[in-house]
Amino acid sequence: MLNLADSIICLDGLGPKAQQNLGGIGIYNLQHLLFHLPLRYQNKTKFTPLKEAQVGTEILTQLTIERTETLPGRQKQLLCFLADDNNSKLLARFFHFHQQQKQQLVRGDIIQCFGELKIGRNGLEMLHPEYRLISKGQDNLLEKTLTPVYPLTANIRQKQLQKWINIALETLQKSSLEDNFSSLLSAEMPTFKQALAILHHPNIKSIDENIEQIISCKHPAAQRLIIEELCAQQLSLLRLKRLRKTKKANVFQRKKKLAEQLLASLNFTLTNAQNRSLEDISQDLSSAQPMLRLLQGDVGSGKTIVAVFACLQALENGFQAAIMAPTEILAQQHLQGFSNYLNPLGIRLAFLSGAQNPQQRTEQLALIKSGEAGIIIGTHALFQEAVNFHKLGLVVIDEQHKFGVHQRLSLVQKAQNTPHQLVMTATPIPRSLTMSAYADLDTSVIDELPPGRKPVKTIALNNQRKSEVIDKIKQVCAAGNQVYWVCTLIEESEILRAESAINTHKYLQENLPNLSVILIHGKLERDEKSEIMAKFSSGEIDVLVATTVIEVGVNVPNASLMVIENSERLGLAQLHQLRGRVGRGADISVCILMYQAPLNDNAMARLDILRHSNDGFEIANKDLQLRGPGEILGTQQAGIANMKIANIVRDAWLLEQVHFCARAFLQMGDGAQNALINRWITNDKTQYGDT
Ligand code: ADP
Ligand code: MG
Repeated sequence: MLNLADSIICLDGLGPKAQQNLGGIGIYNLQHLLFHLPLRYQNKTKFTPLKEAQVGTEILTQLTIERTETLPGRQKQLLCFLADDNNSKLLARFFHFHQQQKQQLVRGDIIQCFGELKIGRNGLEMLHPEYRLISKGQDNLLEKTLTPVYPLTANIRQKQLQKWINIALETLQKSSLEDNFSSLLSAEMPTFKQALAILHHPNIKSIDENIEQIISCKHPAAQRLIIEELCAQQLSLLRLKRLRKTKKANVFQRKKKLAEQLLASLNFTLTNAQNRSLEDISQDLSSAQPMLRLLQGDVGSGKTIVAVFACLQALENGFQAAIMAPTEILAQQHLQGFSNYLNPLGIRLAFLSGAQNPQQRTEQLALIKSGEAGIIIGTHALFQEAVNFHKLGLVVIDEQHKFGVHQRLSLVQKAQNTPHQLVMTATPIPRSLTMSAYADLDTSVIDELPPGRKPVKTIALNNQRKSEVIDKIKQVCAAGNQVYWVCTLIEESEILRAESAINTHKYLQENLPNLSVILIHGKLERDEKSEIMAKFSSGEIDVLVATTVIEVGVNVPNASLMVIENSERLGLAQLHQLRGRVGRGADISVCILMYQAPLNDNAMARLDILRHSNDGFEIANKDLQLRGPGEILGTQQAGIANMKIANIVRDAWLLEQVHFCARAFLQMGDGAQNALINRWITNDKTQYGDT
């Protein structure tokens, strides 16, 4: 008796070589084979007379051989002239053939051909049709159900794969499989066995198996499996969450002394949304279970100060907090921001980045190890082995989607007890994604901007209208405000990118002789960059020409015009982030999205979304629809992006039901949970990572 979790090696005709090839696409056992669903179907369920057939479609037809002919030449061809009962003609053309094959095609014999109907110089043709010689007693090509066409891997033929999957399907139908899911779903839903049988071999003669529905994944058989797959995904994350809650973390009591000092020193009051998020975090930190909280908030919503308060709570309990940022510039910005807030309170900071020289590094490492530094800010450099913390209690990760799960974990492992984690993102994540991709995290949302922020007026302009933009810049600067000009030429190398920015810089300097126009790009030394940013902050620079280095974090309220060149090349989220650099002061701000005409529909749609919305969540939702989840979540969330049948965007409406099922599974034993997870989630190691 076969088990569905058995290795595929137990199938007839499947050797180590095939096993290796299939392993490459995540197929290790029988159930993985079962979930290898067709890409499309071929219809061999009926014969189509040629005169009823449509050119460009695949048909099965039965014909009589009239004659054959070989065309000589560099590329030899075998031509087989055929006619059906109505005397309609078809030419079957083969470029690869054996002599023996030619001999078998005898005048007067009945042949069945399946293939795409094309129109050639002399009428209807098929190239390399699949065929059977009926007169010679070969099997009929006619099928009862549609024929699946599977995605293939190198060195495996379609026919082989069909055969193996059919064996797996037969095994499934015979097995006494425990179907935990059916009891959770409505009675009309097909069972697991039925669903797979339908999707692999739809019977279009049955009124219940509408092929359009099947292809668009709207058929109950597809939905049944989609729910299962999404549920497996969620369940694996929820289990991680549960596992985390069994671990011990350090309890950080709310002492408030430092927090009150900080609060008193601020020249603004926290928004309600900031207070709410802070309360969530503070509560998590004072519990013995490790926090893993996602703090979402649009650009400029004020996440940093929330993180600062969280760090203070760790600090007041004698622990260190580490803040990790995805880029050097952003880490620098945090260093500056945190220093401004915390130096007056007598708190010592350490900084780590890849750009430091060995001596600076050694000094900082010593501060971290001795515990003298209470707060450590840095880039990926924080993960490195040489970094030893004195007592790490809280890890804050900014722009979390730019880091992989493993990077996050390696920092967490630097603490004795499981540290609390706060992950922050300015890319608002649509709810459908937080429910699935981030089901293991608790979330807080800052859904309100600090008072006084004005929506940025956004316009799209052809690159050729640069002179109008120059006029606008003059106007803005005459009023005492400042301008960002972002060059987005996507070049292979940082050097080329800098070069194109240098050209733009020259152009602007020439056309704006009375203004201070300064260039900043990734190739500059760190000190130079900081100096330029400081000058821009203080108003000494009128126009800052930048590559996308200013994407995240920069805060200069007096800047009220943002010009983005070649904006059609950037993603929506990135454009929204860039635009978020303006609209921070008292004046109405403008963002000019310059583009290279002509725009394709998708690019046009994206710029339109930005012109009409300033709401990061709305934009993210639209982005998700336009680009799919993989792009938005980044590669480290490949689990969600590479599902077997489900698609987060298309199937978002099923998520409530999925959530219900996932919770039900959490109540079942480990056996049922493991079976479900192993069935759907293969070789995606991040899913099994320990937090
Ligand atoms: P982001 O959420 O994009 O990281 P920041 O934390 O950088 O945003 O905050 C953007 C700016 O808003 C900073 O200059 C910060 O000082 C300011 N800010 C934060 N909270 C408030 C508030 N409640 N009222 C006014 N300004 C605030
Ligand atoms: Mg920020």
